[in-house]
Amino acid sequence: MFDWLIVGAGFAGSVLAERITSQLGQSVLLIDRRRHVGGNAYDCYDDAGILIHRYGPHIFHTNAQSIVDYLSQFTRWRDYEHRVLTAVDGKLLPIPINLDTINGLYDLNLTSEELEQFFALRREKVDEVKTSEDVVVSTIGRELYEKFFRGYTRKQWGVDPSQLSKSVTARVPTRTNRDDRYFTDGFQKMPLHGYTRMFERMVDHSNIKIMLQTDFREIRNQIPYRRLIYTGPIDEFFDWKLGRLPYRSLHFKHVTLDKENFQPVAVVNYPQSELYTRITEYKHLTGQIHPKTSLTYEFPSDVGDPYYPVPRAENEALYKRYEAMAMARPDVWFVGRLATYRYYNMDQVVGQALATFGRIQKALHAETTA
Ligand code: FAD
Ligand code: UDP
Repeated sequence: MFDWLIVGAGFAGSVLAERITSQLGQSVLLIDRRRHVGGNAYDCYDDAGILIHRYGPHIFHTNAQSIVDYLSQFTRWRDYEHRVLTAVDGKLLPIPINLDTINGLYDLNLTSEELEQFFALRREKVDEVKTSEDVVVSTIGRELYEKFFRGYTRKQWGVDPSQLSKSVTARVPTRTNRDDRYFTDGFQKMPLHGYTRMFERMVDHSNIKIMLQTDFREIRNQIPYRRLIYTGPIDEFFDWKLGRLPYRSLHFKHVTLDKENFQPVAVVNYPQSELYTRITEYKHLTGQIHPKTSLTYEFPSDVGDPYYPVPRAENEALYKRYEAMAMARPDVWFVGRLATYRYYNMDQVVGQALATFGRIQKALHAETTA
């Protein structure tokens, strides 16, 4: 009999397995239907010996020192500042849009003040900013929205930005200075030996037993456990009783080229006619020296593993109904991007898992004092 069954060995499940064993001394069976731990952050060496991210580029960034301190128990870090270019009208330009983007796109020589004016003349008045289209057209106007956001978003999400909540494109700011960093968080680094090594250290405990290629649906009635933490899709947990929650998927095309470099930065976005959204070249992220280079092309899709909750009002409403079912199950803890239907970054999932651990401690304490 395990004290805990934890479904999913991504950030949510692995952090909780680590906390429960190291802080409470209880036993955990950690399962995942994939062949590895790490969830979507999993990285591995490909056939050429290049460290790649199997599920697309993962860059760690946060403003929360407590999360850095927590993860630093399991990894050292490599300095890395993420920069992204976007291929628009035959040019490679910085994204988020900044002064150099606009000057490069239109062959101008604007100052920051002039760029403020440039945007002010183009932005559209939107009474209430609700959608991912509203956010962008009310900041930089329709032409730039069409070139940089509309096509990318339609590819990535399979719907027009006018059908998505504002939170999606609001992730990407607009700048009038020359700052070309993708993220501005105070802490922005990569795990020195990769994510998988970090996860292996996190779950390396005599009280954690790991079973891979094991689907919860197949073992749920066979393995005895006292309590359950679930980090898979919440609608699947409830057998899709209220209907399917949409999760966007991706197909990854991993290739290795017989040359040292391919593109000037780790990620180049393709918001126009290409079928893929972005190309990642991993050596920029890892600093690996190698005569060859490995890339990943991302092709968004409705079918395949669930990667992204799709932020729009009707999906949030359906999630709320599943959440109400989850609340009626105090024996199960739902955590992570899929189980709480949140478009969370890695640090947010770690934060959510640590907060959940705090609630677990309180619940156990209340039980023993009752
Ligand atoms: P997951 O990593 O999805 O782990 C859930 C695990 O549960 C999976 O391994 C799954 O196989 C398993 N599982 C599900 N159902 C079952 C079942 N029934 N039985 C057994 N196992 C099950 N975040 C950043 O901070 N920076 C980035 O640069 C970044 N880039 C990203 C790029 C892409 C392409 C994607 C898709 C995400 C990116 N993220 C990034 C987000 C990041 O991947 C997530 O925040 C984080 O990995 C979520 O962790 P999790 O544990 O909630 O979920
Ligand atoms: N986006 C876009 N053009 C870009 C970059 C982003 O339209 O060049 C939009 C798109 O809808 C994307 C969202 O902004 O899904 C958030 O971008 P982010 O880079 O945060 O996406 P993620 O890395 O989570 O896939």
